[in-house]
Amino acid sequence: MPSAAKGFHLDPRLPMRFDSTPNNKRPASHGNWWGIPYIVTRRDDNGEVLAFNVRRLDGGAWDRSTSLGQAETLEGAVEICQRSADDEMFECNACHATIMARYAGPMTLLEDGEYYTVTMCSVCGFVASKEKQS
Ligand SMILES: [Zn+2]
Repeated sequence: MPSAAKGFHLDPRLPMRFDSTPNNKRPASHGNWWGIPYIVTRRDDNGEVLAFNVRRLDGGAWDRSTSLGQAETLEGAVEICQRSADDEMFECNACHATIMARYAGPMTLLEDGEYYTVTMCSVCGFVASKEKQS
């Protein structure tokens, strides 16, 4: 890995069908990529660099990684990766997915005529917290 990527994955070899697999059906080989930003070089037909895309598997899409942004330089892409470390994440104790915390809640759930504030995994539906609203 070129040192210019500063420890972030640059053009990683992702598992097969990484960007075309429903999150709740991902095999174990995809598991290591939850919450990890990586950089993908976009090139034109002549191999000239067009941009560096930063992506992360974080539940932002149901079947693929999420685009965190793009930069004209590798340094710019590294900055996007570094900034993404500030995102609040939710780690599911059931399926071990790491998703953006805002996708997990808190949200309001109506159940048997009562309202609850819940935090739940958007990948497997595991309810991490559930509190009756007053
Ligand atoms: Zn889960």
